[in-house]
Amino acid sequence: STEGTTTATVSNDRLLDGLLLPDFDEQSCLSRYQSMLYRKASSYALSSYLISKLRTYEQLHKKCGPNTPLFQKSLQQLKSNHSTDQLECNYVLWSPLGGIGNRMLSLVSTFLYALLTNRVMLIQQAADISDLFCEPFPGSTWYIPPDFPIKNLEGYNIHSQNSYGYMVSHNLINDDPNSPPSALPPFVYVHLRYNYAQKDLHTRFFCESDQEVINKINWVLLKSDNYFVPGLFMIPKYEQELERMFPLKETVFHHLGRYLLHPSNSVWGLVMRFHNSYLAKTKERIGIQARIFLWAPISIDELYKQIVACTQQELILPEINPKQSLVPNEATTSAVLVASLHADFYERLKDMYYTHTTTTGEIISVYQPSHEEKQQFEQQLHNQKALAEIWLLSFSDVLVTTAASTFGYVSYSLAGIKPWFLVSSKDQKAPDPPCHRAVTIDVCFHSPPNLNCKTRSKADTGKLVRHVRHCEDFEDGVKLF
Ligand code: GDP
Repeated sequence: STEGTTTATVSNDRLLDGLLLPDFDEQSCLSRYQSMLYRKASSYALSSYLISKLRTYEQLHKKCGPNTPLFQKSLQQLKSNHSTDQLECNYVLWSPLGGIGNRMLSLVSTFLYALLTNRVMLIQQAADISDLFCEPFPGSTWYIPPDFPIKNLEGYNIHSQNSYGYMVSHNLINDDPNSPPSALPPFVYVHLRYNYAQKDLHTRFFCESDQEVINKINWVLLKSDNYFVPGLFMIPKYEQELERMFPLKETVFHHLGRYLLHPSNSVWGLVMRFHNSYLAKTKERIGIQARIFLWAPISIDELYKQIVACTQQELILPEINPKQSLVPNEATTSAVLVASLHADFYERLKDMYYTHTTTTGEIISVYQPSHEEKQQFEQQLHNQKALAEIWLLSFSDVLVTTAASTFGYVSYSLAGIKPWFLVSSKDQKAPDPPCHRAVTIDVCFHSPPNLNCKTRSKADTGKLVRHVRHCEDFEDGVKLF
């Protein structure tokens, strides 16, 4: 009926207890109001303070966003390349980097940074992120206009002379936290890509006194492929705000991801067609995400064995029954959704449960939406399929994901499920035990700054504060506990 599609009938449940606004045209972004019909309700409380922060942010975005006089004023300053006094609206511009999982993690991290620093978050309109996500903020846009004066955003990297790290190491910026805004440039580049700790002082971004300086700069261009949220929790200045927004620390991506990231209708079409065809009618849905990294090589055979060992030892999937050949009348069906670049795991699992009954009598049906064989760049449909699969995984009741994969991270954190991690291979072999359970629903910051801000010397980020410790699936990384 047409009635069900008007915003007035969107109930509070569908607005995730106030996390989402009813102010959008539902037809323009169906996933925003429909994802929760397919996902388990969040069992993680949402703070009313976070909701009020988001409402305040939406007002700020409307006031300062593209096409407003305040935005024009800020562009004038940017073009002149001279700072005046503090302007009313400050911005952080996010530019995409890495695979889709990396992008979603860094986008949410950048949004949290914007909330903490009262900046407006805008994003670059790159070809390969178009038609992936809906506009998240009502009455405005998050895309910078085509005539934006800073060009060549792709070109910014670890060596850029506009980067905060470079400017600090070459004494090109006054890093005294008391310096007035007019003594600072109108724009600075913050480089937080996985390699950022290797050169210059890029890690100083996570120090309080540097935050004081950067906060006075009108525009921050930020590029990262990391979930750098745990780094923001290291900065004393933001501690109290973060505590109020997220009394449960592990819920940052879970809530902010559900708020900010809504697949476009094209992606939602993929999700719904697959879900309704194969998954809708089953008792239980099990998601398995299998990824092979160059830094942890493993053969298809070995990883398949690891998946079977993990799912059987942890009682996620039943064992086969060599003696029985008929399915009991009352058999229930569970569906396994495999997400992988390769078809082999799906083919073998499907064959195993096709040619055998199970010890529990359950029927196991196995599905895989696509097998793209390898990661591709700047291909719209490839990215749309990847996002659709992340979304389908996030509808699961149980998840098995690959350790250290950001693709897996996003799916389990959106779902609010602690997954079983398939442990990274050692010497091309699957370790024993093959998998272990995640401790929290939050995800790992793979490249922590490893800097002691007081002494300005190297330090292990995982040992500096109580609630930021090394990740269970990736040793070098840190996460919130
Ligand atoms: P990560 O490399 O596992 O941390 O995840 P990313 O999402 O950042 O990068 C991997 C990229 O490879 C994805 O964005 C996809 O383009 C592609 N990819 C990896 N695994 C899958 C999969 O299971 N399904 C699809 N459709 N694409 C995948």
